[in-house]
Amino acid sequence: VIELRYLVGIDLGGTNIAVGIVNSLGEIISKISTPTKRGRTYQLIVEDMARLVKEITDKEKIEMKDIIGIGIGSPGIVDLESKRVIYSCNLFKNAPLCSELGKYFNVPIFIENDGNCAALGESFCGAAKGTASSLTVTIGTGIGGGLVLNGKIFRGFNYAGIEIGHHVIKIDGESCTCGRNGCWEAYSSATALIRNVKRAIKEYPSSIISELCCNDEENINAKIVFDAYHLKDPTAKIVISEYFSNLAIGLTNMINIFQPEVIVLSGGISNQGEQLLESIHDLIQKSVYTRHFVDFVLPQTRIKIASLGNDAGIVGAAILALRKGYL
Ligand SMILES: [Zn+2]
Repeated sequence: VIELRYLVGIDLGGTNIAVGIVNSLGEIISKISTPTKRGRTYQLIVEDMARLVKEITDKEKIEMKDIIGIGIGSPGIVDLESKRVIYSCNLFKNAPLCSELGKYFNVPIFIENDGNCAALGESFCGAAKGTASSLTVTIGTGIGGGLVLNGKIFRGFNYAGIEIGHHVIKIDGESCTCGRNGCWEAYSSATALIRNVKRAIKEYPSSIISELCCNDEENINAKIVFDAYHLKDPTAKIVISEYFSNLAIGLTNMINIFQPEVIVLSGGISNQGEQLLESIHDLIQKSVYTRHFVDFVLPQTRIKIASLGNDAGIVGAAILALRKGYL
């Protein structure tokens, strides 16, 4: 008799709450989402989570007794002992999401930081599958990260790790959302890329980017910039070359510190795929510390594109319920 049991993963984002049913291999069976509507109490947000879980289990005709557990991935600092979000810039502070969701469902409920969930997903069944140590770097509005170190999520002693976006790559550089200057995130996030492009087209208004965004710079996104780059637009080339070199500096630092077997690139920018990897490969190889030992056949960190995409959060959260020693 094959026992079919499922996991539920909840990816709580600043924009959407996404819920998925996942099997024990980490495959998503079905998913559903609703807007987060920021500014509400955590109780109302959890009420929406519960509604989505009910909706999707009804739709798939799965009974709660066949759910092994529910995992929640949340932005911010998540205290695993009290199972609450201590602080999340965008959403709330001191929110006991697990006990609140427990009012609706009598199954084990787990919570973890969203960056850690993405790293867990990629490690369990994504681009870093089969490795013991991997770093997942999510490049979007900001830069987030999650580190699986020797099979366990590394969180720091107070659960506030790891904020890789906020290591400084340029002294007295661009101002960062965290209050410092020169953070990696202030150079290599999609937000930073778009800021730099807006500046550049002021200087070079003939850039094809002006055309691609219909002369409204509010329409500029990372895809438009890369499209212009592939069309050999000189302005895009200047901005993207600088972007790649800053991205490579941060990745080189990450390799020098952690020496993970694999670094997984996730988030919107990673849609650039193999071309992105090719562009940064040489920049990293010429500066990474371990380049000195290549002749001694010292294995080098491999950089890969995420394979779970936007689903990494759901999958990683669901996998929490397997309790496979990650906790
Ligand atoms: Zn910062």
